[in-house]
Amino acid sequence: MAENIRLDAIVVGAGFAGLYAVHKLREQGLSVQGYERGAGVGGVWYWNRYPGARCDIESMEYSYSFSEALQQEWEWKEKFASQPEILAYLNHVADRFDLRRSYLFETEVRSAHYDAEEGAWTLTLSDGSAAVSRYLILGVGCLSTAMKPRIEGAERFAGQILHTGHWPHEGVDLAGKRVGIVGTGSSGVQAVPMIARQAAELTVFQRTATYTVPARNAPLDPAEVHRVKTDYADFRRRNRKMVGARGADRLNPDPKSVFEASPEERLDAFLARWAEGGMGIQATYSDLRSDLEANTIVADFVRDQIRATVQDPQTAELLCPKQVLGCKRMCIDTGYYETFNLPHVRLVDVKANPLAHFTETGLVAGEIEYPLDVAIFATGFDAMTGSLLAMDIRGRDGVTLRDAWAAGPRTYLGVGTLGFPNMFILAGPGSPSVLANVPIAAEQHVDWITGMIAYLDARGAKAIEPQQCAQDGWVEHVNAVAAGTLYTSCDSWYLGANVPGKSRVFMPLLGFPAYEARCDAVAAEGYSGFDITPA
Ligand code: NAP
Repeated sequence: MAENIRLDAIVVGAGFAGLYAVHKLREQGLSVQGYERGAGVGGVWYWNRYPGARCDIESMEYSYSFSEALQQEWEWKEKFASQPEILAYLNHVADRFDLRRSYLFETEVRSAHYDAEEGAWTLTLSDGSAAVSRYLILGVGCLSTAMKPRIEGAERFAGQILHTGHWPHEGVDLAGKRVGIVGTGSSGVQAVPMIARQAAELTVFQRTATYTVPARNAPLDPAEVHRVKTDYADFRRRNRKMVGARGADRLNPDPKSVFEASPEERLDAFLARWAEGGMGIQATYSDLRSDLEANTIVADFVRDQIRATVQDPQTAELLCPKQVLGCKRMCIDTGYYETFNLPHVRLVDVKANPLAHFTETGLVAGEIEYPLDVAIFATGFDAMTGSLLAMDIRGRDGVTLRDAWAAGPRTYLGVGTLGFPNMFILAGPGSPSVLANVPIAAEQHVDWITGMIAYLDARGAKAIEPQQCAQDGWVEHVNAVAAGTLYTSCDSWYLGANVPGKSRVFMPLLGFPAYEARCDAVAAEGYSGFDITPA
């Protein structure tokens, strides 16, 4: 690429959000360049290739809605799509809309500095080149910067060390190997049953037990597909009215309180949800997610299922989560608890006996060495801010994003941040993002941001950035919404609690429909809460 090419817009990332941003900006007649550190499209679905990787949102929903032709022609195979299927879908989208020509792959953005005089961003890239653009659009993903705990002695371990979020593309042969996996969040819960099928021995190092319910994944029922596709637009509309922009047919809470039901009725209702599979169990009654006592009732039900499934009582007890159900993201699984009945699988409590160090031949927890050929870290991500702060982003007056966000991310609508004009974040902190169906949340952000760009361009404006009071008010609003829920009752990555030293701030905003309505109102008011600088 030529040095210092000047563009209308730069999009960073080729996941769901970035791909759609490139498409929409190009349609709007802007010159656009995308950068992506992976060798292909897919974002999180490009990197997370671990055994069992699969989406926990149903495939008919976890997809783009912007093109009726696309949503009609694509045939999902399973109720919950696997990582290879989602990656194939995103590759299809890239081909269908000819998006690859706008991207440079295997290209990392090292820095992005704003020039207030020019009203433009200058980026430096890993290939040594630079690019200048009016708008900087960051679709770098909420779960893209892997967290690898620093465990002493890793360099002397003779085996292989892997992270689920950076799984080797050529695959890993685990057959006959002694495998250890650290972490029992969504990634660990999905990987454990699949790894147990191959490995000679599997040791699961668990710090916090998680709630997981059976996915009951299956091939998609053609009648169900037909029902949705007959009026896909209506299906999307109904889902957009849901708090998480999904699940209108299954996740709408019963208006009844759990306290209005008899113990027998509750058990029947919970068992029906358990048999149906997926996250619907949280919607069995209206108050399971808001009232602590109600939450304990459903949590006790799940603990009973664990005790009924896992044969060894000590292992079962260790697998019973103690925190509020739904406080950390709930997982869905295929045979997770059953896996602990296999003779070659063991569970190690690393809360009681923390991981100490690697030896040449294994991992030591407490006083015990567990011999391993492969150590897998399913230890999550520096969520929501990790990938943004990995770049040297400097706004007006050279202020770094890292400094501006030292006490936690501060945005207006999760889109813009004071001091960083013409920089827009897709699915950023302060927006529904990870608490919503991400492809839909990403589409809403892209549509809104491109609408704002059209508004600015029509007025020949030079720059836009949030006002101090609008941003302060928004941060307060996001915190107030979270404070009224059970989400803040435990340490989770939503709060940044999984990253040592990270400020403890609840980052996503709960409630997609209210958020969308607020964004629409801001646009209708001529982008109220933003300062617009004329050319
Ligand atoms: P995660 O939910 O953050 O889980 C990380 C796990 O590693 C936790 O069990 C954590 O224990 C443990 N851990 C972290 N550091 C540790 C240490 N030093 N020692 C011992 N254990 C440690 O990460 P994830 O499973 O990769 O999932 C992250 C998010 O990605 C999910 O919540 C979900 O939103 C998304 N995801 C979705 C799917 C899906 O669609 N099905 C699949 C994978 C991921 P503590 O709980 O004690 O911190």
